[in-house]
Amino acid sequence: MSPRPAFPSISIIVPAHNEEAALPVAYQEIRAELERTGCPWEILVVDDGSRDRTVEVWRGLMAQDSRLGLVSFTRNYGKENALLAGFAHVQGDVTIPMDADLQDPPAVIPLFLERWRAGFDMVYGVRRHREESAFKKLTATVHYRLLNALSPIHIPEEAGDFRLLDRLVVQDLLRLPERDRYHKGLYAWVGRKSTHVLYDRPARVIGEARQSFRKLLTLALDGITSFSAAPLQFLLWLGIASCGFAVLYGFYLASQVFILHGYTPAGYPTLLCFILFFGGIQMVALGLIGEYLARIYREVKQRPAYLLAEVVQNPIRTSGEKSNHGV
Ligand code: UDP
Ligand code: MG
Repeated sequence: MSPRPAFPSISIIVPAHNEEAALPVAYQEIRAELERTGCPWEILVVDDGSRDRTVEVWRGLMAQDSRLGLVSFTRNYGKENALLAGFAHVQGDVTIPMDADLQDPPAVIPLFLERWRAGFDMVYGVRRHREESAFKKLTATVHYRLLNALSPIHIPEEAGDFRLLDRLVVQDLLRLPERDRYHKGLYAWVGRKSTHVLYDRPARVIGEARQSFRKLLTLALDGITSFSAAPLQFLLWLGIASCGFAVLYGFYLASQVFILHGYTPAGYPTLLCFILFFGGIQMVALGLIGEYLARIYREVKQRPAYLLAEVVQNPIRTSGEKSNHGV
């Protein structure tokens, strides 16, 4: 493997939805860490349809620092699409997506770079410790366990979008044409030489979580439906099992009537119970098929994942002693 430059150019992607309060702090902290690396860099904020002053605040900072860029959407398209737009615009040798709320600590960046220099194309951050509600931790654990049990790829538990991606991985990701994107699964699908570093994930510093429970639930469904058809197979087996049971039970009832004579069917409540139960299963089955169908429908429409309102970006400055490749 060819040796890697000691000072790769770094692109940071920050998806931001109503982050006017968090951005100035995030900028200070991330910049301080980037300066310490000695690498050329850029920070790209992807404004995901913010309704507050996020864009104005960021523009204010951009006026003072030419290494800051902005990609803005026409409306809120969600974090996954914001990341996708970021990937489409980054210029760095390596790319690191980071949340605006500083839940992805900038101090991990040097650790990422060290592993990248050692030859890894993807270095993902694994949360050693999460300062989040017990409910969020529980739902996250259940989600990852289920997803890994059902799909052929392995998605590391406790790893989020906070990771370093080599330019090659970014290009791989951009080659995947799907609209309903679940990046955590796509990173794993791409493969490439990967490793991880451990870090402590702090609580959100400023403001409330922007990812509502509903958004996270949709994302969880996207993850499972885009990487696994197991729920549909499960329904098939459930259907076969219940039919089998119904046939056996039918034989049993017939034997009661013909062999034991004089049997009076008194099973009205049981009947109702069974009808409700199997009716329920059919509804669930239809709903699940509907989920897959809705996703297929969205994909065939071929609508773009997002529409851009504006892009402001300067070339990454690669001149200067420290940034010379091969140092
Ligand atoms: N975010 C976004 N679009 C959305 C929701 C969130 O770009 O529709 C951004 C948000 O501004 C933040 C990151 O995604 O930078 C993570 O959001 P949040 O902290 O709310 O999520 P959590 O930490 O709960 O996963
Ligand atoms: Mg957060």
